[in-house]
Amino acid sequence: MTGCSDSFQRPINYLRISVTDRCNLRCVYCMPVDGVRWLAQGDILTYEEIYTIARAAAELGISKIRLTGGEPLARSDLSHLVRMLASINGVEDISLTTNGTRLGSCAAELKAAGLRRVNVSLDTFKADRFQSITRGSHSIDDVLEGIEAARSAGLNPVKINMVVVGGVNDDELLDFAARTINDEWHVRFIEFMPVVGEAIETKFVSVSEMRRRLEVLGGLEPYLSGIGNGPAKYFRFARAKGTIGFITPVSEHFCFSCNRLRLTSDGKLRSCLLSEQEVDLKHPLRNGASSDGLKELIRQAVANKPLQHRLAEGYAPKDRPFSQVGG
Ligand code: SAM
Ligand code: SF4
Repeated sequence: MTGCSDSFQRPINYLRISVTDRCNLRCVYCMPVDGVRWLAQGDILTYEEIYTIARAAAELGISKIRLTGGEPLARSDLSHLVRMLASINGVEDISLTTNGTRLGSCAAELKAAGLRRVNVSLDTFKADRFQSITRGSHSIDDVLEGIEAARSAGLNPVKINMVVVGGVNDDELLDFAARTINDEWHVRFIEFMPVVGEAIETKFVSVSEMRRRLEVLGGLEPYLSGIGNGPAKYFRFARAKGTIGFITPVSEHFCFSCNRLRLTSDGKLRSCLLSEQEVDLKHPLRNGASSDGLKELIRQAVANKPLQHRLAEGYAPKDRPFSQVGG
């Protein structure tokens, strides 16, 4: 079988794999203030198990894989997993979403293993603000070094994800947008989703409001080249080297074109980021399920993929923080 569609005829070809729930940061919009209890080591899928599931998924038409977390580079030797996944027939594109703090030392190795591109989350250019958003002891310089290392290694494109949180970092919209003009940065502005992070006092900033504020830098032209295959809509300023993407999970959901499945680090398949519905793959796998058995379970998750999320009705899943599901 070379294609897989859900019950609303959406083709499903993209698997996001959370390789760990652990993270070296605790971003205010992602993790509760007290942190989260890490899953026990034995509950986390091994690389061999991830490979087995990915191979079954590829036989059902999954051709793009993104590694995420928690912080995927908090897991040792991620290049080894990348190499394993790159060897799967049908897998054409492997990418990574990371906070960038550990990217500097391994970007070249990841590229050599078969990683194509990387998204780095960065919400501010201010060192002290970086510390307060990430509640951490890490330095923003590590992230900036990671971005440069990824570019030098030929991971292309490197996209910068900024979650725009009103009253926290929205005063830096223009600074991020300006980096797309001369520096060939590809910046994506993401609407803040009110999920399991700290109950931050925030004013929601919609993408239409972001676009209005960016007008002082010039007009944005639609940019249609194949820079992404996800939900972002891309634009650029006249003569800019880089691009600006907008992701609107809240103000204008993009569920009608959703092509994704998500594998949690403890082996549950979620067909929607914002639904608590999961299909367990880990226990069947550990109890000897065959590749056909796994494929049947994957089909089940696809068949039950909800039409759309219910954020607009105030419903957000509370069972797991984004750090466990992979964002
Ligand atoms: N640790 C990695 C990172 O930060 O890129 C990967 C995992 S993180 C959960 C994946 C993405 O989810 C990041 O780009 C992060 O900014 C985004 N994210 C987390 N919480 C969010 C929220 N409440 N609203 C919007 N995006 C969020
Ligand atoms: Fe960690 Fe990424 Fe969540 Fe920040 S957004 S706490 S870096 S998983």
